[in-house]
Amino acid sequence: MLGQMQDWPLLVHRIIDHASLYHHDREVVSRSVEGPIHRTTYGEIGRRAHRLSNALQKRGFKLGDRIGTMAWNTWRHLEAWYGIAGMGGIYHTLNPRLFPDQLVYIANHAEDRALFFDITFAPLVEKLAPQMPTVRLYVAMTDRAHLPDVKIPNLVAYEDFIAEGDEHPFPGREWTEFDENTACGLCYTSGTTGNPKGVLYSHRSNVLHGFMAAQPDAMCLRNADTVLPVVPMFHANAWALAFAAPMVGSKLVMPGPKLDGASIYELLETEKVSLTAAVPTVWLSLLQDLEKTGNMLPHLNRVLIGGSACPRSMIETFEKKYEVTVVHAWGMTEMSPLGTLGTLKAKMDDLPYDKKLDYKTKQGHPPFGVEMKITDDENGELPRDGKAFGRLKVRGPCVAKGYFRGDGVSSFDEAGWFDTGDVATIDPDGYMTITDRAKDVIKSGGEWISTIEIENLAVGHPAVAEAAVIGVRHPKWDERPLLVIVLKQGQSASREDILKYLDGKIAKWWMPDDVAFVSEIPHTATGKIQKITLRETFAGYRLPTAAE
Ligand code: ADP
Repeated sequence: MLGQMQDWPLLVHRIIDHASLYHHDREVVSRSVEGPIHRTTYGEIGRRAHRLSNALQKRGFKLGDRIGTMAWNTWRHLEAWYGIAGMGGIYHTLNPRLFPDQLVYIANHAEDRALFFDITFAPLVEKLAPQMPTVRLYVAMTDRAHLPDVKIPNLVAYEDFIAEGDEHPFPGREWTEFDENTACGLCYTSGTTGNPKGVLYSHRSNVLHGFMAAQPDAMCLRNADTVLPVVPMFHANAWALAFAAPMVGSKLVMPGPKLDGASIYELLETEKVSLTAAVPTVWLSLLQDLEKTGNMLPHLNRVLIGGSACPRSMIETFEKKYEVTVVHAWGMTEMSPLGTLGTLKAKMDDLPYDKKLDYKTKQGHPPFGVEMKITDDENGELPRDGKAFGRLKVRGPCVAKGYFRGDGVSSFDEAGWFDTGDVATIDPDGYMTITDRAKDVIKSGGEWISTIEIENLAVGHPAVAEAAVIGVRHPKWDERPLLVIVLKQGQSASREDILKYLDGKIAKWWMPDDVAFVSEIPHTATGKIQKITLRETFAGYRLPTAAE
């Protein structure tokens, strides 16, 4: 017997309909690519998204067409997402920080039919256009006055383009109706090894993921919140905020192209932001800026930190010095991206702060809709005791069941589990701790050493700005850890200082065999430490212990 409830497909554009009806005057503030601060509302965004959708249809775009966006977080990018999705198109976010060759590969693999781009990227798009034969329309996300002087075929200014579309006074009536499992968005993983692989979200998965993100023990999004997603829409869906914030009508503050500490601080202050989200490197820059200026964060209530491990010292600084609650989160493009969030549970209320910090430093527990387990190399499930570590596998309605065009099949098994490529522990309360990427883990004498744990501890040293641990060849142990350090400006520390600081905090055999000081650690297009490059740089490195 089937239930007798309505079949109301979970379509992404219904979110903007809802926001534009019930939160019509709630503001969306952006730092525009052209420079000035721009203010609009959900009502206006809903209307313009309709126009955009209609303009695409008038130009012959149809259900299933992939439409690229190469853009910062702004109101126009938001309109483009909803407008594209609303006509059954698939918004395909391109990460402009990738190498041009990778961008060409991705656009061609996706067979993008149009490309919406910010004028920041006009020179890049001019260079790429001849190599992207499937793209037949280029939309520069600006008005005619700011149209750059570039040779790009079939180029139109965004404001002119949406003016081609009709506006409909009743939100919800104009959108095309289709099944909720219809593809909606496409995002490629950055592909540190091999070619990038496409993750194809559905309307249903995006809507469910928005619900999931908004929950109290996840991001706790409320109408009263003012949300600043520093995490780009081109990096794993801006962690659901482009869907979850309009769902509840939170005010949105979009940072545009300026993601440095000082610019972010300015928005946090002037717009009285209560919730913000980004990778640790962004917060490193903000905290350094605050230290320099002596500014505080009186309005900010919570900060979401994920994308790579958030050091314990960063959580402590935010919470103790600035009175901002940190939620450490883990996820990945393949998971829409949220997997776990580090909010505390009721039974932890009375714990001393240091113990709470132990939990907050973990990557968190999964919201309803994410299943997790860890396995050994033979796919045997390992205990949830917080000690055993193994390959982390996940499944759920917002987790990919395959990559676009059948790539990377080996990551998925018959029971529907996706192998994240991360190595982790899970404790009895469901808090997961990432110990490493499987490919970065150091195998010393057959035992695993967690590089993330050593890095987290090392950045707790007052002179250390950033730390990375890589495995270096060792004649006796196969591999031993080398700690690579960037010192804070104007600070000094010796190899011995750093090792002494770590002494007693980690197992003796985890102690790095050496410390190398560098002026900069390379990062990937999504802000992660680029360990491949570091390993290449230190490929011939001779550890002082190598002669033993
Ligand atoms: P990319 O395109 O760089 O792979 P993703 O955001 O999909 O971008 O990367 C996902 C990976 O990032 C995870 O599998 C994990 O290794 C790492 N990661 C994400 N969040 C955290 C975190 N809080 N702590 C440690 N690692 C993290």
